[in-house]
Amino acid sequence: MPSFAVELGGRPGRRGANWEIQARQARQRDGFRCQACGVTEEELGRQLDVHHKIPFSSFKSNLEANKLEHLVSLCPACHTKLEAQLRRELPLFRQP
Ligand SMILES: [Zn+2]
Repeated sequence: MPSFAVELGGRPGRRGANWEIQARQARQRDGFRCQACGVTEEELGRQLDVHHKIPFSSFKSNLEANKLEHLVSLCPACHTKLEAQLRRELPLFRQP
C-alpha cells in the first residue's frame, strides 16, 4: 500500500474512504510533477505527496474535502515547507 505523508495533524482514517483514489487522480492530473518546484516522480524516485489546499475542518465531509480541485501534488520537500508555513498562518493546523 502506498503511503502518503499527508497528515495535517489528522488522525488516521480522517481523510475518508476515497482518499487514495483521489490522491492518485490528483497526481495524474498534475502530470506526476510537484506543483511547487516541478520535480517529477521519476526524478524523485518515489510518489509525490498530495496536499489539501484547504484545512479539512473547513469541510462538512471527507468526500467534499477530497475533491480534486482541493488537492495539489507536492514533493516531500515542498510539502514540508508548505505545511510549516500553514502552521504559522493558520492556528487550526497546530497540534493540541
Ligand atoms: Zn517540490
